[in-house]
Amino acid sequence: MPRVFIPAQLLNHERVTLDRPASRHLIKVLRLQAGAEVRVFDGCGTEIEGRIVRASAAGVELALGQRHRVPLPPVSITLLQSVPRGDRMDFIVQKATELGVTRIVPLTSSRGMVKPPPGKARRWRTIAQEAARQSGRADVPDVADVTAMDVALAGAAAAGGTRLLLWEEERALPLRQVLAQVPSAPVTLLVGPEGGFSQAEVESARAQGFRVVGLGPRILRVETAALVAVALTQSALGGLD
Ligand code: SAM
Repeated sequence: MPRVFIPAQLLNHERVTLDRPASRHLIKVLRLQAGAEVRVFDGCGTEIEGRIVRASAAGVELALGQRHRVPLPPVSITLLQSVPRGDRMDFIVQKATELGVTRIVPLTSSRGMVKPPPGKARRWRTIAQEAARQSGRADVPDVADVTAMDVALAGAAAAGGTRLLLWEEERALPLRQVLAQVPSAPVTLLVGPEGGFSQAEVESARAQGFRVVGLGPRILRVETAALVAVALTQSALGGLD
């Protein structure tokens, strides 16, 4: 069944007209016509049966039917990711969404992209919406505005839960071992940029209750480390069952 993301605030009536990109996807890509059924999701755990009543590339109109609450993921994972150079953050947002993260906070840190261009957070939100649609999620992960690392660390400490900093120099405490001990979610994972974290940043994280954990003896690329950490956490907490 084709799926369409429509923000909850637009779903208060019995009919809704899709925006141009969503209309184009249904008409041009999926070649749907009037009468076809689609599944609408609002990104907050509600799915609605929809039917195309007017199909035109200018804007598809849907009639909305039965609403269903879909259970949200049992595991809450927040990924604090220092934004790497280039477009690798696009990839990390897409794959972390497929893997079920609840929240993504793009960070600035001393050895990462110091000031991501404006509009990047909006781009990443669109990527997250599309990845949620494609992967069949009823919720869309929250993608925060680009945040300074110290602000994000304090926010994570205030939110509580298990907080883990992934550090390539950590050999004594593997992520696997910590995950075996955590009672359940929420888990916050902090992953550095291509230049890694400075010693001072590692100490700041420790001061905010982060434990420093390793992913083995090899130096992983940013995108590899982020996705391995999310996947291992999901697997350990039952999010991939
Ligand atoms: N400073 C590293 C170096 O010497 O090349 C580069 C950092 S690595 C490319 C990017 C990030 O991935 C790190 O900041 C860390 O968060 C994570 N990472 C990579 N390999 C890791 C490992 N073996 N254990 C834990 N984290 C790792």
